[in-house]
Amino acid sequence: MKFLADRTLGRLAKGLRMLGYDTLYCRSEDIYQLIHLARQEERIVLTRDTKLAIRRPKDRIITIMEDHPSRQLKEVVQKGCLFLNEEKLYTRCLLCNDPIDAIPRKEAEGKVPDFIFIQQRDFYRCPKCGRIYWQGSHLDNMRKRVKELFHNKSEARNGF
Ligand SMILES: [Zn+2]
Repeated sequence: MKFLADRTLGRLAKGLRMLGYDTLYCRSEDIYQLIHLARQEERIVLTRDTKLAIRRPKDRIITIMEDHPSRQLKEVVQKGCLFLNEEKLYTRCLLCNDPIDAIPRKEAEGKVPDFIFIQQRDFYRCPKCGRIYWQGSHLDNMRKRVKELFHNKSEARNGF
């Protein structure tokens, strides 16, 4: 399942990438361009425009009602569009959407803070922007929160 977030949903797009979902972020205000891209790449459109789904009944469009990005992510989960795949967590660049590649540890030296380099064994790099990622100590905590996101499906207001 691939997504295309409209210009109002940039943070939701990052949340979906964090979960491992291929999600493009469309900054354009041009609805035709958005729909065209979604059709071309078979993506589900995520929008806050409540009229779009009515105007375009043949396209796959999810209307997001929540304001807060974490609740928006929960909303997509509750609509049954997402599945938790722990192996996919943190496998994409949050900025570019590209899958990140494992790199030899020494290539990260000097490019990340020294204390991070000393603490961490595994590093990853976005092939597009070159940003380096590592699985910090925050990851266990994040995994827990991601699990909560999926397990408490009935609690719409539960924060992320
Ligand atoms: Zn990137």
